[in-house]
Amino acid sequence: MATSTAHTATCRRCHRPLTSARSIRLGYGKGCWAEIRAEKATLEGYKDHQIASATEAIEDGALVHYRDGIHLVVSADGTRTHRATAHHCTCQAGVRGTRCWHTAAVQILTAARLAPTAPARTFTLAA
Ligand SMILES: [Zn+2]
Ligand SMILES: [Zn+2]
Repeated sequence: MATSTAHTATCRRCHRPLTSARSIRLGYGKGCWAEIRAEKATLEGYKDHQIASATEAIEDGALVHYRDGIHLVVSADGTRTHRATAHHCTCQAGVRGTRCWHTAAVQILTAARLAPTAPARTFTLAA
């Protein structure tokens, strides 16, 4: 049979196939994403509602990696796009030097991308 052109997305953490659109967009299955969120829920210096906004934005696909750690973040009302890194942001609050949820979102996303893959492999693909 010819190789299918359909791309099977797998979880970046546990490598299980992803089925829901949201999981595929995130790159993580539900369980793994919940764990990553839990780990990152302790981001220092951010308020709970900021972390909530950050995770929501990531889940909604509002963040796009631009280059060199810079992410484009679509504003809550969808009318503007901010450029944010883990520590700086071009939004009003960010320019004033106030912490905004955009930088929190980048930190979560960066941490998620670097999240370790499955701990110990108990099987191999060789058969
Ligand atoms: Zn997973
Ligand atoms: Zn911002």
